Amino acid sequence: MQNLLDSYLSKSKEKRSDVIAYLAALDHLQTVSPSIADLILKELVDQRTYLKLIASENYSSLSVQLAMGNLLTDKYSEGYPYHRFYAGCENVDAVEAEAATLAQDLFEVDHAYVQPHSGADANLVAFWAILTERIQNPFMEKLRKKNPDELSPEEFEELRQLLCNQSFMGLSLSSGGHLTHGFRQNVSAKMMRAHTYDIDPKTGLLNYDTIAKQARKIKPLILLAGYSAYPRHINFAKMREIADEVGAVFMVDMAHFAGLVAGKVFQGETNPTKFAHILTTTTHKTLRGPRGGLVLCEESLSQSVNKGCPHVLGGPLPHVMAAKAIAFREAHTTDFRNYAHQIVENSHALAEEFIHQGLKLVTGGTDNHLVLIDLTMFGITGRIAETALRQAGLTVNRNMIPFDQNGAWYTSGLRLGTPALTTLGMGKKEMKEIALILTKVLKHTKPETVKSTGQLSKARGITDPKIIEEARTRVQSLLDQYPLYPEIIIS
Ligand SMILES: *Cc1c(COP(=O)(O)O)cnc(C)c1O
Repeated sequence: MQNLLDSYLSKSKEKRSDVIAYLAALDHLQTVSPSIADLILKELVDQRTYLKLIASENYSSLSVQLAMGNLLTDKYSEGYPYHRFYAGCENVDAVEAEAATLAQDLFEVDHAYVQPHSGADANLVAFWAILTERIQNPFMEKLRKKNPDELSPEEFEELRQLLCNQSFMGLSLSSGGHLTHGFRQNVSAKMMRAHTYDIDPKTGLLNYDTIAKQARKIKPLILLAGYSAYPRHINFAKMREIADEVGAVFMVDMAHFAGLVAGKVFQGETNPTKFAHILTTTTHKTLRGPRGGLVLCEESLSQSVNKGCPHVLGGPLPHVMAAKAIAFREAHTTDFRNYAHQIVENSHALAEEFIHQGLKLVTGGTDNHLVLIDLTMFGITGRIAETALRQAGLTVNRNMIPFDQNGAWYTSGLRLGTPALTTLGMGKKEMKEIALILTKVLKHTKPETVKSTGQLSKARGITDPKIIEEARTRVQSLLDQYPLYPEIIIS
């Protein structure tokens, strides 16, 4: 068994307390569960072996991770700060209140709710708060004045029917929306009537006139903006105008780009906090915090949002709320702002080089942290490209392109993001090199022919092994220059 702390202390001149604590914890885990400790280190090795171009992932600080590894996990604290269903929550109250205040300051909003365990949970909390507060009809007015326990069985049934008859509009999955934005198989499409809007097939962009027309017909309770795979700015001022015109609540899910909002890259009409009634996000993507969710809202929705637990969620995760507080503090710094700007500069550099190499990008470029490659010209599916690139040392994910002919499983696109590599310190020069490596692999990858049918496979491809080998060497050289968690020395 290796002693990570000893290796660090003997090899490094500086003695950072975060590193010492972190390594001591890993060393300890090796004594209580060698298998789990081994898997943690194997995951580190895996992440060190590939260039992480997954747009939704990042590398959090050791401080963020350390804040999660402690006794706060032992505490139940259902309710919200200073209003709990459990005794002895004074310290958790203070942790949660501090995280919430930091989030409010960071995003300049009235209210923050830091309990959601994930982005999907944050969306459920937000939907539920809107359903509770904003359905305007006489029956609901009457119910709001009553204690829920006093509803008759008939009233309760009427309430249930009313709730699931509400409509909302979100970006479709194939246009870059998230599963929780009304994808048929997701609860979001069943707890309300879900309608989706698409991007314009000609430009690949959101067309606000088309969205407005659709909204006038549907008159949704909620107009939802936000994406997981849309490479361009959203004009939130225009979306808010549409919501106002049809009397909808304007909700923004900024799970992917919250870090770009916090880092002040998205300003003016591209800053959703200035226009949304309610916002949701993850805390682990561009925001670079612990895995978790967050809801932000204006004052009028705060009471309902605070009832996320127990109405939607179970007990909060106090240790994760502590880690969120650390991450929000980090995001307040100039370093983080520079980081956020660099993410987008890197994304531009990546896109530029792809275009220079003759590749087709959905929308022809990017305004944010992600790039969507249209693979049609290569005659391979996203699945084939993803596998070939992984062999070459690049982790990317396949993604549908608008109106994809290959469906959600095989796809015709690749989604690439720069947040993680930017955390490692890579810049434009490295992005250019990555674009060159990636393009070369794609150019030398062909689909296999299925023997039984004679047709081209959507799942299996062949890449010239020499090309893979060359790519692997170039990837390794980049990884060596920008090591991940270099303090952890595995012998
Ligand atoms: C990632 C994402 C989510 C879900 O976050 P989880 O933490 O995985 O639940 C929700 N909405 C959008 C737009 C996302 O990109």
